[in-house]
Amino acid sequence: MCGIFGISGHDSAAVLTHLGLYSLQHRGQESAGIIASDNGRGTSLRAMGMLGDAFSPEALKGLAGRTALGHTRYSTAGASTIENAQPSLVQFRGGHIGLAHNGNLTNATELRQALEGSGSIFSSTMDSEVIVHRLARAHSKQPERQLAEALQGIEGAYSLLVLINDTLLAARDPNGWRPLAMGTLNGATVFASETCALDIVGATYVRDVEPGEIIAVDATGIRTLQLERATPLHRCVFEHVYFARPDSRVFGGSVDGARRALGRQLAIEHPAPGADFVFAVPDSSNAAALGFSVQSGLPLEHALIRNHYVGRTFIQPTQQGRDAKVKVKYNPVREILAGKSVVMVDDSIVRGTTTRGLVALVRAAGAREVHMRVSSPPIIGPCWYGIDTPDKKELIAANMSIDQVAQHIGVDSLGYISLDGMLGAVPDGPTGFCDSCFSGNYPTAAPTIASKQRMG
Ligand code: SF4
Repeated sequence: MCGIFGISGHDSAAVLTHLGLYSLQHRGQESAGIIASDNGRGTSLRAMGMLGDAFSPEALKGLAGRTALGHTRYSTAGASTIENAQPSLVQFRGGHIGLAHNGNLTNATELRQALEGSGSIFSSTMDSEVIVHRLARAHSKQPERQLAEALQGIEGAYSLLVLINDTLLAARDPNGWRPLAMGTLNGATVFASETCALDIVGATYVRDVEPGEIIAVDATGIRTLQLERATPLHRCVFEHVYFARPDSRVFGGSVDGARRALGRQLAIEHPAPGADFVFAVPDSSNAAALGFSVQSGLPLEHALIRNHYVGRTFIQPTQQGRDAKVKVKYNPVREILAGKSVVMVDDSIVRGTTTRGLVALVRAAGAREVHMRVSSPPIIGPCWYGIDTPDKKELIAANMSIDQVAQHIGVDSLGYISLDGMLGAVPDGPTGFCDSCFSGNYPTAAPTIASKQRMG
């Protein structure tokens, strides 16, 4: 997964992009980058690590111009390199091209082979680089038509920000897998993966970039181009469940509202009568636990405290790193848990490693009974569209029954929300959402690029 941010028409474009990326840090912590464009001259900064470590205020001063775009990235282990950090910036016969991508192209290997066969030389292992090459080869003169030409035949998930000289372009794939919002700030146009990044720079949300839409912004104004729009849409429901920040709106709906509704539905489907209280695995499950509490009448407690200086366990590249970080990241509150029957709400169980570690922590703190409730259905397949869930063999629910999972993670009872319950709870549901990792129904062929090379 990745976060993207762009702005056109502001004297402090690079500084605001840097600020906006801070709100998208949760979408990627392995590398970050910013490109600015100044009267046809592009400059870029890319670095490994989180934003605070990556860029100094002095370095930002070198990014001149009224147009900028930025990217925060996570990947799996193999591709966590500076070569694969985005945004990419290349020179071509028509000037320069910059690109920031959130998503995963499912036919990138075929496209890459075709380009290499006709002489292209790639500088990274990213799927997104095929878009850059196709842009450079496009014949259209208008930047938005150039991008439309480059995107022809590209399959899979993409929310894109592209810079062609001083024109900023935003685009979403026709299925609308990944979010992309548009805002305005003192006459400047702003784009961001989530609206929380508009908030931090003081921009006002205008609307989402529509699935299949290209928006071009430059000194002459704003132009839009609608590519074919796919039906049904495949907006990623996991953005609402886990990935996006609760203070954001994605796909036009409140993430906090979605999570509360998921928690209420979970309590209807899997109540826990006789339990003393409910608590969240913080932070992404806080709103779901609140919803569960409201629906069930069980009090909400803060029984696990999260250390905010450790990254998300879910996106740590190696298993060894994940194991160690569970303990570093969470600490139980013994005074609350001792002797109690408790409901622990989490948004998902992926490998089961983190959950098993958490249940052990809660029991060691004295909990008498642990009832686990999960605000997404069992994950039975990988994501092919931009969230790097592991292969099927590592997904606990793909390899064990629910009873076996309960036994493995060490709980007294385990209840997952149903697929229909989840889709009915999110805003603008139940149709038009991707549920492939939960249902096993994929709307495209499997990607031919190895997961470690996915862009995010
Ligand atoms: S497969 Fe799952 S995580 Fe991936 S886009 Fe679909 S719902 Fe989202």
